[in-house]
Amino acid sequence: MNVERRSVLIVGAGFAGAVYARCLAEADVRVHVIDKRSHIAGNAFDETGPDGIRVHRYGPHLFHTANERVLAWVQKYAHWTSFTHRVRAQLPSGVLTAMPINLDTINAVFGTAFSTSDQGKEHLKKIAIPVANPSNAAEYLGSRIGTLLTDLFFRPYTKKMWGVNLEDLSASVIKRIPLRTDQTDTYFPTSDTQIMPNLGYTSFFKNLLDHPLIKVSLDTSFDQAMLSDVRYCFASMPIDEFYNFREGELPYRSIRFHHRSVEIDKVEAPWSPFVLPYSVINYTDSSPYTRETAWHLMPNHLEHETYRRTFTREEPCDYRDNFMERYYPVKTADGLNEKIYRRYTCLSELDASRISFIGRCGTYQYLDMDQVINQSLTGAEKWLQANRC
Ligand code: UDP
Repeated sequence: MNVERRSVLIVGAGFAGAVYARCLAEADVRVHVIDKRSHIAGNAFDETGPDGIRVHRYGPHLFHTANERVLAWVQKYAHWTSFTHRVRAQLPSGVLTAMPINLDTINAVFGTAFSTSDQGKEHLKKIAIPVANPSNAAEYLGSRIGTLLTDLFFRPYTKKMWGVNLEDLSASVIKRIPLRTDQTDTYFPTSDTQIMPNLGYTSFFKNLLDHPLIKVSLDTSFDQAMLSDVRYCFASMPIDEFYNFREGELPYRSIRFHHRSVEIDKVEAPWSPFVLPYSVINYTDSSPYTRETAWHLMPNHLEHETYRRTFTREEPCDYRDNFMERYYPVKTADGLNEKIYRRYTCLSELDASRISFIGRCGTYQYLDMDQVINQSLTGAEKWLQANRC
């Protein structure tokens, strides 16, 4: 396929690519976005399924941010609805408890009846195993919540999710999850604004890419020859793949999604009408599944009533066992994968006059949507300044 001559080539129509494309186009730069998939929106792609319910094909995307610039920017391109994401953890006994861990979780697990955050804090202090500088996820958790809570809520889940033990995982992965001693039961920090696009992410991406200076070509894989004709390239493709894996492979975890459709009156616990409606349940047992989503419980996801409900269970696996679908860069405690990545950044610095790597796969970072947007806004601004557009 020929790319638009003298345009900026953007590889990948996910968050990173679409934000770059929009910023550049608004500064009068012609861009050509290519994506090997047959749809835009990357892993945020959503569509309405046969049950009349919007489903995110690559797992639930819950937008949350504390970044005012990002918030203002996304709101220019779609209408959004406030949403408070709440999750319940299902214990092996079937009991549902608050996740992230809070005072109610502590009471449920230890059979206590604490009513204040101070009591919760005091209890955690008693059961924690102090470690001055935690060097992995196990030490970090042990030093904050002790062994029992760690083994119940984090050990089997993390093993399923990452394929490694807590001892071998970077603490930064677990630090994403707040640990609380009050009764707050929102999944994300309360300082974040949580919103969902009224018409879905795909519609939001259509708006982003709807600009006379943006051309989008789907079902189009990147080819090195494309670089010869373009003004510059921003690539969200895996950086190791671009360099033919010459510095080694950067591993990823992937997810197999198991969808099921259930008649409305056969919907069972935990989503039966008699249980509070949490859209996501995390499974703490050692089954292959980490979590399950009930899509109709997310705002505007029930598009038309068919008297059926769609549920999606997630089964993590190595990306090589899932058609090389890269979802999560693996941050091990030894930092080995980051070392490999740094070798690739050295190579990419030599190519910086013609190509930059962006997004989760381009920069091998475990990034949330708002972080990708923020980095992309900054990156696009810098490029525009340097190129005096
Ligand atoms: N985690 C866990 N138990 C849970 C939820 C999370 O052990 O019930 C750990 C797990 O290692 C997971 C990490 O915390 O990968 C980060 O969780 P988060 O929900 O932020 O992951 P994401 O939504 O990005 O998949």
